[in-house]
Amino acid sequence: MKSHRKELWFEVPTRRGFINITSDVQRTIDESGVKEGLVLVNAMHITASVFINDDEPGLHQDYDEWLERLAPHEPVDGYRHNVGEDNADAHMKRQIMGREVVCAITEGRLDFGTWERIFYGEFDGRRKKRVLVKVIGE
Ligand code: ZN
Repeated sequence: MKSHRKELWFEVPTRRGFINITSDVQRTIDESGVKEGLVLVNAMHITASVFINDDEPGLHQDYDEWLERLAPHEPVDGYRHNVGEDNADAHMKRQIMGREVVCAITEGRLDFGTWERIFYGEFDGRRKKRVLVKVIGE
């Protein structure tokens, strides 16, 4: 069995943002040489997510507004976690949007439905953060 590990680094210039990382993941699969197997993609930070959905800007705006209603950033002092930091909402947003995805690799490609794309979701940006990609298979 082959295995290949890579870290993808991101620095989102705003507090929150979504980045389509599908091509980065496919490139990592290409580098691995794996034709049949699985790829795990996970955020290595507890205030960021990796998830699969549609690459549609309206939807991303809807996500952002929905998450802000569920766990608003302000008022910062409304959270017990926010002693010396201000990112309690980001921990909660990450919990809802998830830590990781696992995807099938078939004939060397991500075996996806028509509209499936992989996203990095940032909820406490303006600093360097990373995503782990682990490819296993033959
Ligand atoms: Zn925190």
